[in-house]
Amino acid sequence: MKLENIKIVMVGTTHPGNIGAAARAMHNMCIGRLSLVDPQCPIGEVAYARASGANAVLDKRETWADLKQAVGDCSLVVATSARRRSLAWPELRPRELAEKIDAMPDGEQVALVFGREHSGLTNEEIQLCNQMVCIPTNPGFSSLNLAAAIQVLCYEIFSQQAPAETEKTIDPQDLPARSSDLEGYFEHLQQVLEATGFLDPEQPGLIMQRLRRLYLRSELTLNEINILRGMLTAVQKKRD
Ligand code: SAH
Repeated sequence: MKLENIKIVMVGTTHPGNIGAAARAMHNMCIGRLSLVDPQCPIGEVAYARASGANAVLDKRETWADLKQAVGDCSLVVATSARRRSLAWPELRPRELAEKIDAMPDGEQVALVFGREHSGLTNEEIQLCNQMVCIPTNPGFSSLNLAAAIQVLCYEIFSQQAPAETEKTIDPQDLPARSSDLEGYFEHLQQVLEATGFLDPEQPGLIMQRLRRLYLRSELTLNEINILRGMLTAVQKKRD
């Protein structure tokens, strides 16, 4: 599913700095839709200062009178909470939530709902949600700052969807070398070690096996093998 179909819903927030910091955290993770339900503070200078340039997220924010209206168009509504409730609600770990969202069809809308700084979400608000997510923490100190909690969940969702940086730009020479390239190197190495007298062909011991183990666990790239073989060739030239 698309990141643009995810909205972060902040309920009854009292500190404008938390709203600004949330906008920044969201924008870092390419999540741009912010819904405020019954905010208890003005969204002005303090919020924009903490947004540190993520102004567009604040400018586009939606404001709702209650949670029911804010999440009306969503097929997955997720409550977030630092503590377990008396009535067990289906609970996901942040990574599981990210996988679930990633697997949803593109057109679906998802809301992640965050509670008030001092009292979290009410039971009535949680009853509007399909799922609950709790960020694992120190059991004796489990409540994260509101914007920090938003950062953690947005990061999980973003990183589930973003292809790893390396996959896009990798040079074939920097891919792990093939077995045949490694075998070519081992033969070359053995020749030089024997020619220089380091390795006695009559009594080789375990040296080649140990060297193989060392090189095989290093996941050498073709580039690196070429450098190593270049060094061996330089030694051979000097001897000739
Ligand atoms: N004393 C409140 C703490 C609220 S912290 C309570 O016990 O509910 C403000 C909001 O940050 C929470 O409502 C939740 O949305 C989010 N949050 C804080 N810590 C969290 C955690 N460990 N896991 C998930 N959400 C968390």
